Amino acid sequence: MKYKVLSLVIVLVILSASYALYLYTSNITNNASLPSNNKLQVVTTTTMITDLLKVLGEDAIDVHGLMGPGIDPHSFQATEGDVIKLSNADIIFYNGLHLEGKMADLFEEMSKRNIPTYAVTDAIDKSKLLAGEDNYEGSYDPHIWLDVMLWKDVVVFVTDILVELDSSNAYVYSKNANNYIEELKILHEYVNTVALKVPEEHRVLITAHDAFQYFGIAYGFKVLGLQGLSTETQAGIADVRNLADFICQHKIPAIFIETSVQTRHIEALKEAVQSRNFNVEIGGELFSDSMGDLHEPEGTYIGMVKHNIDTITKALNP
Ligand SMILES: [Zn+2]
Repeated sequence: MKYKVLSLVIVLVILSASYALYLYTSNITNNASLPSNNKLQVVTTTTMITDLLKVLGEDAIDVHGLMGPGIDPHSFQATEGDVIKLSNADIIFYNGLHLEGKMADLFEEMSKRNIPTYAVTDAIDKSKLLAGEDNYEGSYDPHIWLDVMLWKDVVVFVTDILVELDSSNAYVYSKNANNYIEELKILHEYVNTVALKVPEEHRVLITAHDAFQYFGIAYGFKVLGLQGLSTETQAGIADVRNLADFICQHKIPAIFIETSVQTRHIEALKEAVQSRNFNVEIGGELFSDSMGDLHEPEGTYIGMVKHNIDTITKALNP
């Protein structure tokens, strides 16, 4: 008798747990499922890629960006809802080169399910890519969007894929791409012109993590990051000490925080400089791996790039 009661209790517990799980997953499905209209359902990762797809697709596609403003792609982990969105996508665009370091298996899985899944950095010729910090072949710096001309290559790459997959809207994609490429050329010229206002000896950009190497090469800045290429790499005491010495030696006027990275490392660096009897300002916030809020000018790729160069120039000019 005792055993019968016990088995009944166990069965009831299992049944109610299964029902709770059913309610939970069906709830996720409802919240995360994509609309079933005739539009191409595009799922993107970073805010920069989301912005690009909105520009190219206009009303012809629905864009579902997984990462919001201020989100760090290096440490981003997909939720169950994100996985459902990815599974229901007509097409997926991500950055690649291990920027979304915790999502690699997911992209592989979606490819296996025959969902067209593209790394936008495949647009860039390998000869233009900078080496990663792991020193093994095939390890590259993922932050290509901070050079406007490399991002232009991405625009061409993504447009070709959209045209091929959804030829009925080819005209929309091509027209928008052509207009946008012209805007990017103007933006590139703007960054070049403004950068030249900073005297050569002051063109040193120091940030929390090492996101600006492509920017530095394109626009003539020496770039130093406290953390490595990924925010997952921690800055050591020696890194802070060496960089503080460098700042004092070269009388660097400002260092910068990034909106998607914790500020404590840059604050520690400022303090270390102060303890060496020199003062370095925090020159402002830069958008490195994530754009600003949607209703702000920095909520677009063009606005983000302009904000960065204006902030850098203002802080580094004597
Ligand atoms: Zn980064």
